[in-house]
Amino acid sequence: MTARRIAIVPHTHWDREWYKSYQDFRLALVDLIDTLIPLLERDASYPHFMLDGQMAVVDDYLEVRPEAEERLRALAAAGRLSMGPWYILMDEFLASGETIVRNLQTGMLRGAAFGGTMDVGYLPDMFGHIAQMPQILRLAGFRDAVVWRGVPSEVTKNAFVWEAPDGSAVRAEYLPVGYGNGAALPDDAKALVTRIADHVQEVGDFLIGDLLCMNGSDHLMPQPGLGRVVAEANGLQDDYRFEITSLQDYLEGTTTDGLVRVRGELRSGFRANMLMGVTSNRVDVKRLGALAERELERRAEPLASLFQPAEAYPARQLELAWQEMVRNSAHDSICACSVDDVVDAVLHRYAEARAIGAGLADRAVKDFARSLAQPGPSVLNPSPRSRAGVVELVVPAEGPPPANVQVLSERTGLPGSMVLDANTVRTVLGMLQGPKISDDAWVQDIRIEEHEEGIDVTLSVGTEEKPNVPIAEAKQDLYTKLGARPDAVVRVAMDQPSTRRIVARTAEVPGYGWASFEAAALAHPVEVSEAGGSVVLGNGLVRVEVDAATGAFALDGVPGYGRIVDDGDLGDSYNYSPPQQDSTVEVPEAVAVRIDERGPVRARVRITGTYVWPDHVGGSSQARAGEHRVDVDTDVELRADDAVVRVTTTFVNPSGDHRVRVHLPLPEPARHSHAESAFTVVTRGLTAEGRADEFGLPTAPAQRFVTAGRLTVAHEGVCEYELVDIDADGARTVALTVLRSTGMLSRLGMAYRPFPAGPLTPVEGLQMRGRRVSLRYALALDCDDPYRLADDVLLPLETVSSLGGGSRPPTGCELAVHGAEVSALHRVGEVLEARVFNPTAQPAVVSFPGRTGWLVDLRGYPLEAFEGSFELRPFGIATARLRDG
Ligand SMILES: [Zn+2]
Repeated sequence: MTARRIAIVPHTHWDREWYKSYQDFRLALVDLIDTLIPLLERDASYPHFMLDGQMAVVDDYLEVRPEAEERLRALAAAGRLSMGPWYILMDEFLASGETIVRNLQTGMLRGAAFGGTMDVGYLPDMFGHIAQMPQILRLAGFRDAVVWRGVPSEVTKNAFVWEAPDGSAVRAEYLPVGYGNGAALPDDAKALVTRIADHVQEVGDFLIGDLLCMNGSDHLMPQPGLGRVVAEANGLQDDYRFEITSLQDYLEGTTTDGLVRVRGELRSGFRANMLMGVTSNRVDVKRLGALAERELERRAEPLASLFQPAEAYPARQLELAWQEMVRNSAHDSICACSVDDVVDAVLHRYAEARAIGAGLADRAVKDFARSLAQPGPSVLNPSPRSRAGVVELVVPAEGPPPANVQVLSERTGLPGSMVLDANTVRTVLGMLQGPKISDDAWVQDIRIEEHEEGIDVTLSVGTEEKPNVPIAEAKQDLYTKLGARPDAVVRVAMDQPSTRRIVARTAEVPGYGWASFEAAALAHPVEVSEAGGSVVLGNGLVRVEVDAATGAFALDGVPGYGRIVDDGDLGDSYNYSPPQQDSTVEVPEAVAVRIDERGPVRARVRITGTYVWPDHVGGSSQARAGEHRVDVDTDVELRADDAVVRVTTTFVNPSGDHRVRVHLPLPEPARHSHAESAFTVVTRGLTAEGRADEFGLPTAPAQRFVTAGRLTVAHEGVCEYELVDIDADGARTVALTVLRSTGMLSRLGMAYRPFPAGPLTPVEGLQMRGRRVSLRYALALDCDDPYRLADDVLLPLETVSSLGGGSRPPTGCELAVHGAEVSALHRVGEVLEARVFNPTAQPAVVSFPGRTGWLVDLRGYPLEAFEGSFELRPFGIATARLRDG
């Protein structure tokens, strides 16, 4: 019998921030790499170390020790140190598909400066894995993944073939007991042999060949004497051949022969904690992350790519924003299973990225407005699909409003002129710091005329921002004139027309295009009626009836939508867990209904339910105790010619240790849900695999939408959902988690997860007490295109008011794309690049009419040329570089 090879891979697992802040952990990281560099340089018997598959550890170290860069580069070039391929070890479900791709590309690009990254899809600690990960890895040129959590019971060996929905497959090395199976090895050869013999006993049934021994764990230092101990252990016995090596070297000797094939996402808790409750932990982090992703992916990048010159593309600002997004996608960061300092830092990074995205997008929109030939309002469509919709804008108030327009507010023009003394004029002018008076009032011109009786100042105010209005010069001119004539009378004339803010429906606007605004005729106007104490919103396409007793509403006659259900949660940041004596609050003490808008374009009602929620879970009885009165506002909106019901649920959270969900009945019972995940829609059943150490709670994340039993829910931010009210026919309700509130990073002895998943640290912020919690979602019955629904709800048409004078025609489109969903449209250098995916089970023809270009992989290597269109396999992802048209 030949000796079994024990492939020891020294490494560390570096959570950049978690139960300590980034800076705290970095102090230790600097110590680690300060120790590691000389160890590798002087000790040839310690041939290799793996820097956790993420480049962030290298950058974080070099920020402190820039002088060490050459030594790190030399070790990497010599194959002694492996880096990347990721920039950070992200959570796969909570970040968007695009963020995952940018993370990988950033890591590989940064690693290129050190001679390249490890070509392994190393995913050691992620809380489950997305369905499309094998395809992403293949598109980056990888053949291997390494995984631990989420692997289902059907996998019984230490490797399997993992397939994406498009059929792309990688060999997945499975770490049955995690990435620390060889952590803290004994410093004694005999003890090492015993330890490995015990471990082989433990995992022997899994082994199909060599034993991969991962020598490291969370924030662990390298073991300096390892080379000597290994040599001695090899001299002691013939059963095992110990070797210190790299993950790549270990994987080189493996095959996929005879391995079981697993397709799709990995979300089983059969052997390791899935920690599915992170999706609903600190919901504010998830929602802000989604807002930032949308500003960057769906507004800033496409708008700057299409409506600004290629050479003006704000590449560096976008790179800075993406750096914040990628850092935040780290599993302990976005999951917020962290102390408050860390969560604050995550929120701050998202706010920064969002501000960069919004600022760049707004600049592109302004450039677009200036480029129009004709003056007046226009509608810009930031989505790739042609669509009509409801917009709000400010227009001159001329005559009575037409029947197809709904007036929200009126502003009467200011009186023609007033006479002021010099001091008052100075005060007024001091307040005018720029052309902006309000969001829809701009100084467009300022004229000063001096004559014998005094000085005339004329301000022209309009709804459009006009560039280069010489306000500072005019002020200076006036101050000079007032200085010479301190007693002069100043007549200020404000030339401001009356305006009104309206809401109206526009006709179809081309995808990535624009059209001058014209209020469309309403085929299905919205009406609000009040009869017998109940309020009904209807437009002939869908009917909403508010139930003043329960605070819920009926949708096309099916009652119970928007029901707020509060129960106890004695879990932690990782897992929901019910207290021993749970109680549920789902009936409001009082309900008030207020009509805010009455149509014909848009109708809104606010349902305020007053509930009495317990304050906390207390004592050994684990009963809910104390009470708070809380108002939960549910705003329900219906629009003309639109069968979608838009809802926002808002409250200020008074309580701890609880979970708040909104229940939405399914018009038909369902045995499956279909939820958006990165680059695809995944189908999930009613149960989840678990084990005694972690209950298989079938809650799951949806990126922007989930469909079940004829109901599609589009929502803002990754949302946790569960199919509930299950009987013999299936589930009757989908529950969306609005808030989960716990005060512990991790906890011991929970009903649903008895052993801790992290430090037992109380973290007050995880309770979210005193915070305003808001969930925006939309409901559609029998929706045939949930991606369209998500865009309509979350990526509205934008309006601009132009002064004209440019060269752009009144309607048009900058880029047409058909046949696929667009994940990204941005510039790489000055080249326009689109990433698209086919979410269907049929081959698609993706067309970019009038454009030629190249398909490239995720490293940017050309795959094939195309002219106008190319075929995309079912569930395929493609990246196209386009020549400017
Ligand atoms: Zn980790």
